[in-house]
Amino acid sequence: MSPCGAELKVANKALSKVELKAEVSRQVEQQRQELIELSLKIHANPELGFKEEKASGWLTSYLAGKGFQVENGIGNLPTAFKAAYGSSKPVIALLAEYDALPEIGHACGHNIIAASAVGAAAASRCIVDDYGGSVVVFGTPAEELFGGKVFMLKAGVFDGVDVAMIMHPGVRDTATTEALACIGLEVQFLGKAVHAAAYPEQGINALEAMILAFNAVNSLRQHIKNKARIHGIITHGGEAANVVPAYSAAAFLVRAMDNAYLDELKQKVLNCFEGAALATGARLDYRWGEVVYAPMKNNLALAKLFAQNLESLGRKVEPFEPHFGFGSTDMGNVSQLIPAIHPSVAIVLPNVLLHSSDFALAAASESGHEGLLVAAKALAMTIADLLSESQTLAKVKDEFSG
Ligand SMILES: [Zn+2]
Ligand SMILES: [Zn+2]
Repeated sequence: MSPCGAELKVANKALSKVELKAEVSRQVEQQRQELIELSLKIHANPELGFKEEKASGWLTSYLAGKGFQVENGIGNLPTAFKAAYGSSKPVIALLAEYDALPEIGHACGHNIIAASAVGAAAASRCIVDDYGGSVVVFGTPAEELFGGKVFMLKAGVFDGVDVAMIMHPGVRDTATTEALACIGLEVQFLGKAVHAAAYPEQGINALEAMILAFNAVNSLRQHIKNKARIHGIITHGGEAANVVPAYSAAAFLVRAMDNAYLDELKQKVLNCFEGAALATGARLDYRWGEVVYAPMKNNLALAKLFAQNLESLGRKVEPFEPHFGFGSTDMGNVSQLIPAIHPSVAIVLPNVLLHSSDFALAAASESGHEGLLVAAKALAMTIADLLSESQTLAKVKDEFSG
């Protein structure tokens, strides 16, 4: 049969919105086995950021097989891709992530993000066939640590996109998400090594400088705004107990609700390290991360469409509450420039935490597969809303520019 519900059509008339939604949902269901296999394959072969060769290869060949025009290596990132069906406006983008975490693999469930994006896109072909516009999957590597989407934005690969959506597997069904502005900081102290017992007075202790700086950050933390976060690890703390450490290094992340407070906080954090340098005589070297993750700007009109569609599939969408926990995502940067949503679809109970080995298990479980399929359906149904009625898309865009 035709991929576009030909048996439902009367005299070549386009399907109504209700028929269209039932049809795209059926199209996702038809791909059930393929999508689960794709998700499990990515899950079983975890690849770190910018090294996702297998995942991007499997995803692009899947989409090419469904008639999408594929471009690999966009934005000068070898594992990024663009796969388009249709070439006219408006352009609805589904973003796929597929990077894993060191040691714990797909503990963020990006295999489900990727499979739901391609499943929703393939199901949406009939919407494009009937109503025009285009559906594009962007493969966006290295979300976890390197902010692949930030490089893609700089390279202009999202230019011309009208709406961008990505789902994330989680512990609740929500249509909006909170994500903090975030920047990395690498610091090192340079001191002077001497025998720790024989001539301590001639040494300059780089580890003590780092410990002082950690304590200063701990003190600062009492007096920062709600939801700001500062956390770090010592990556180098000395060579031997009988040598005054001449070198110490640490990696920090600084997060805030908005970019303005992030800037303020950056200076306060830096003061902690400069103060420690002054106190110990060690020299401070530091480098702020190249990529700044922006906070998420939720498009509420778009979130409402997604929520209605997810609820029509039997899920209960919770209003987002601040105590749900939040991190940062490079989808925040996309959402500052394009109307966007980053909903969460539950695959496991709320006592399981993201980035845990239990969440990695959930990402390959039956409930993970169900989350994948229901998310793909809700995404495709939201594309039906956007492409079948121009006033719906206009409302989403008005909210963004208003
Ligand atoms: Zn994630
Ligand atoms: Zn993550």
